[in-house]
Order: sequence, then C-alpha cells, then structure tokens
Amino acid sequence: MNRQLHIGKKHPSRQNLAACDFRLAHLFPMTTCVLPAHDASQIALAASEAARLLAKGEIVALPTETVYGLGCDALNPAAVARVFAAKERPSFDPLIVHVEDAEDIHCFTTVRGNVQKLVLRLAENFWPGPLTMVLPASERIPDIVRSGLPTVALRCSAHPVMQAVLKNLGHPIAAPSANRFGRISPVRAEHVVEELEGRIPLVLDGGPCCHGLESTIVAVEAQCLVLLRPGPVTQEQLEQFAPVRRVAVGGAVFAPGMMKSHYAPRTPLYILAVGECLPEDAVRSGLLTFGNEMKGFAEVENLSRHPLEAAPHLFAALRRLDASGVSRIYVHEISESGLGMAIMDRLRRAAHE
Ligand code: AMP
Ligand code: MG
Repeated sequence: MNRQLHIGKKHPSRQNLAACDFRLAHLFPMTTCVLPAHDASQIALAASEAARLLAKGEIVALPTETVYGLGCDALNPAAVARVFAAKERPSFDPLIVHVEDAEDIHCFTTVRGNVQKLVLRLAENFWPGPLTMVLPASERIPDIVRSGLPTVALRCSAHPVMQAVLKNLGHPIAAPSANRFGRISPVRAEHVVEELEGRIPLVLDGGPCCHGLESTIVAVEAQCLVLLRPGPVTQEQLEQFAPVRRVAVGGAVFAPGMMKSHYAPRTPLYILAVGECLPEDAVRSGLLTFGNEMKGFAEVENLSRHPLEAAPHLFAALRRLDASGVSRIYVHEISESGLGMAIMDRLRRAAHE
C-alpha cells in the first residue's frame, strides 16, 4: 500500500514536479486508502467519505455492476482533468457520466421528440443497469467531460455503492474504468490498487463486479440505435426496441474509445480457433479457454463455456495470466451470440496485431 510513484529522480521534490506538465504533476505520491463497502452500514460510511472528497474536486475509485470506475464530480472541470491525468487517458476520449435516475436525462441532455421517447423507453427497461446512452448534451456538461463533442454518454448504475455516492454528492459523477489507459479494466478493488496506487486517495471496495465487462454503449438516433460498444445488455435485447446498427472497431466512423488496441494485458495475446493445433511455444505460454481441454500450456485458465458465467471472471483470469510470467497468452474463440459478442470484442481489442 505504501509503494510510491517516482518520476525521473528517485525522490522527486514537489518543486521538480511543479515544473512538469499537469499530467505528471498530478502523479504526486499519495497514500491510497481502501474502505470496505460491503453491507449497508459500511456503504453509508464509505459513500459519505467519497462524496466529501469528490465535492472538494478529488477523484475516487468505486465499484459499479460492470467494472470499477474512477469517479469525479462531472460538473467540475478541474476534477475531470485529474481523472484524465491519473489514467493517462488522451483528452479526445470522453468520459461516461453516471446519473441518479432517468429524471436526469432532462437535466443533462437536450433530447426531444421521438428520440426522447425511445430514450425513455430504454431507460425504463434497462436502468438502473449496464446501458450507456450517447445523447445531445445540455450545456451543463463541461466540454472536458465530452472531449468537446456535442454529445454526452449517460449511464445509471444499479450498484448500491455508486447509487449511494451519487445521492450524497448531489451531482452526476463522470467515471471511466479505473485502470491506466489501454489496460484491462479492474473488476476487484485489488486491481484498482494495482493500476492506480499512489495516484488516487481512495478506493471503495464493494467486492467483485457482477458483470465484469464494461457497459453497452449506444448512440440513440431517430430510427435506430448505433451500437458503439457491445456489453452486458445484448444486441438481441436492444433489437426489441429499435433496429441496431453496429459500428466496426477501427472502422471508418470514429467513435472515441473504439480504438483497436484497448483492454490489453502487457503480455502479447493471440486468438486461437478452437481445434487449432498446439502452438510451438505452448510450454512457455498461457491459455485462456472456455470449457475446452487442451494440454501442453504452462498456465491454463479455463472459464465456463457459458458467456454469462465466464464474463465476470474474464478480466481477472487475463490479469492472472499476465502476471504469471508466460511469454504469450492464447485465447480460444467463443461464439458471438448474446454476451459472447462483448467478450469477443474485448479479446480482439486485447489481441496483438
Ligand atoms: P470507459 O473508459 O470504459 O468508461 O470508456 C468510456 C467510453 O464511452 C469512451 O471510450 C467512448 O467510447 C464512450 N463515450 C463516452 N462519451 C461519448 C460520446 N459523447 N460519444 C461517443 N462515445 C462516447
Ligand atoms: Mg476504460
């Protein structure tokens, strides 16, 4: 817990750091505290401490039902800048804004008419839950949150910790995943500590995230939904409300966060078709598979063949393989139906060219 971040020199003085740009200046070594938030009384205590820090413009990691988020007061541009700095996230990649309930759609967006009707139906069916909607932003949302775009991504989490912090703060919370940019999203408080220790003052530990994959993101248009990121709310579920158009990763349409390389372990990762023969370097490699037997690898993580059971364990298994010292990670493909689409999306983006 006391490991400190040093930049350049062994013991950087504040003066040295002040000369650096804002991004580095924010990486002052600080103690990262972890507060338990498992039952109602712990949540009440942890949420009020988190809200106290957030109201001062600090940043705090907290659980949602998808992955852990790194939260800040979404209406405070200086606090939002701290999130970008701690994550080393490029400023062109906008943040998701968490709101208390569907009423906030009226406060923070300018959506009207038929689109508004569709948005409210989606909120009624999927909120609170792992669905993020990209909507025209009201001017209350600072530019920095939306990276200068005219839209804002809104989400209403079902997690009791996120809900309690939102209630205590009384402002929306901008919260991207609590990992350094491009890395695997954290699904346990320990993962957040691995990623951001020394850069943030507080992590609320609400245990493992139940979905384990980032939220589904859709842009809501007049006649259709544009699926920007597959996630726990599946394309099949969304199609019951409107036709769904999928945006290809790395395709012509630029959607922030749709960078081809993302969610990546440090160890090079390769996708392997089930039934493909044993790679030559298997003895030095790890395998992540979904219910298949395959001998000959140095390390094996065998998750369920059912995507719903596999997803909550996916990122933790990838982290274990990454930390095991293998030289490559091979991953078996899984069928793309239902939640399998989101799993394959993350694996493709984690994969080596
Ligand atoms: P994350 O770090 O997982 O929370 O990523 C948030 C992602 O939400 C971004 O990388 C974008 O893909 C998406 N996003 C947020 N705001 C917008 C927006 N205004 N338009 C399109 N996508 C957005
Ligand atoms: Mg992320």
